[in-house]
Amino acid sequence: MRKKKLRKKRVLALLLGIFAVSWAIHSTIQKASTETISFHMDPNYPNIEVSSLSAMGTHVEFPVFHIEKVDQAIQTYIKEYILDSDRKDENSESVVKYHIAHYSEQTVSILFHENQGEKVKTNTLTINLMDGTILSINDLVLEDKLDEFVNILSNATFSKWKNTNQPFWADREMFKDFILYNDSLLFYIKQEGQQDVPLAISKQLFSHVLKEQFQASEANQDLIKNREPREIITEQSKQGIEEFLNQKVIALTFDDGPKQGTTDKILDLLTKYNAHATFFVLGSMAEKNPDLLKRMSKEGQEIGNHTYNHKQMTKLTDEEIYTELKQTENLIQKITGKTSELMRPPYGSIDVRVRNVLNDDMEVMLWNIDTEDWKCRNTDEIVQEVMNNAADGKVILMHDIYQTSVEAVSIILEKLSSQGYKFVSASELLEIQKRRMMVNEGI
Ligand code: ZN
Repeated sequence: MRKKKLRKKRVLALLLGIFAVSWAIHSTIQKASTETISFHMDPNYPNIEVSSLSAMGTHVEFPVFHIEKVDQAIQTYIKEYILDSDRKDENSESVVKYHIAHYSEQTVSILFHENQGEKVKTNTLTINLMDGTILSINDLVLEDKLDEFVNILSNATFSKWKNTNQPFWADREMFKDFILYNDSLLFYIKQEGQQDVPLAISKQLFSHVLKEQFQASEANQDLIKNREPREIITEQSKQGIEEFLNQKVIALTFDDGPKQGTTDKILDLLTKYNAHATFFVLGSMAEKNPDLLKRMSKEGQEIGNHTYNHKQMTKLTDEEIYTELKQTENLIQKITGKTSELMRPPYGSIDVRVRNVLNDDMEVMLWNIDTEDWKCRNTDEIVQEVMNNAADGKVILMHDIYQTSVEAVSIILEKLSSQGYKFVSASELLEIQKRRMMVNEGI
């Protein structure tokens, strides 16, 4: 009996073996055009090997981690989403390269990129290194929080899209390509016939819906370099525009700083009142106080361009105007990683020629309540001027370089808050006005 059973088992094993071999051959024939070659080590990661998969003239390079489930997941992904995607010209040769965008203890995010004429086509893949699963945005958030998450992402994206002429739409599908950093998520937004648009959104914005393991932590820090996208949409930047549409809003704006001893106190006050404001900084001051600029950016305050030397622009040559703005813009970008959307000419002095020199993507922001705080240096007078003229949609001009102005800000924030005003940044105000207009026109 025993022997018979054993023989049966052997026969079964043999049959299974034959089946496995023939299946393997069959698969090989079917995927005959797919080949893998290991050829060198990734220069940035000493333990990672570079391999490639090819099919029909497309060669996809990919990293081999020597973690079986992970390596398997990468290859399956490439076969399904890169090699099998509809390729317009099957006769031409193309190479898809990869870049390890983020590699932490818990996850790895890989960006595949391919030059297609003028455009770069991207694919991203984020894998949980613990179990080799490919992560989708659903996997990142708490149960039942996906809708809220997509809503937050849509709101954040809207702010980025508003200055372009592209139609805006947002759904889950839009956020399927992402890279998981420690502090942010970077999405590659795809639009028909367009270059994929990278868009980084800070985790602060949605940390309340994010699963604990994906929150910013030691385990999610990059193993090699601490890289994050340069320009990140932060919590305070545009979130909640909707809730302001039916409220009284007002914009505090501060020129000529930043300055130690005053700007920092104003930042403290803004935080205390959960208020947003805009600082039109001078390049010459920003250069001396990069930490204040960093703080503004980190705390979600808006930074605008007020030129480098505070010269009257109407008296400058085209080239001088350009240099004054460009120097300051470069500084803002270098220090905060963000670009400024708004500029304010010194003394409010501007004409058609100056406007022509300004870059299209920089909007001019003037004001309609002038506190003349630089002249009077009197807290009561400043407060009085604001309280006499405050109204929904007004823009208040102050300077964050005087002690009297700091004291006035403290009182103004308290008084206007108690009257129900919401303090928004200048570009938020423009956005709110635009959205209200759209509502009125039934768009
Ligand atoms: Zn000024």
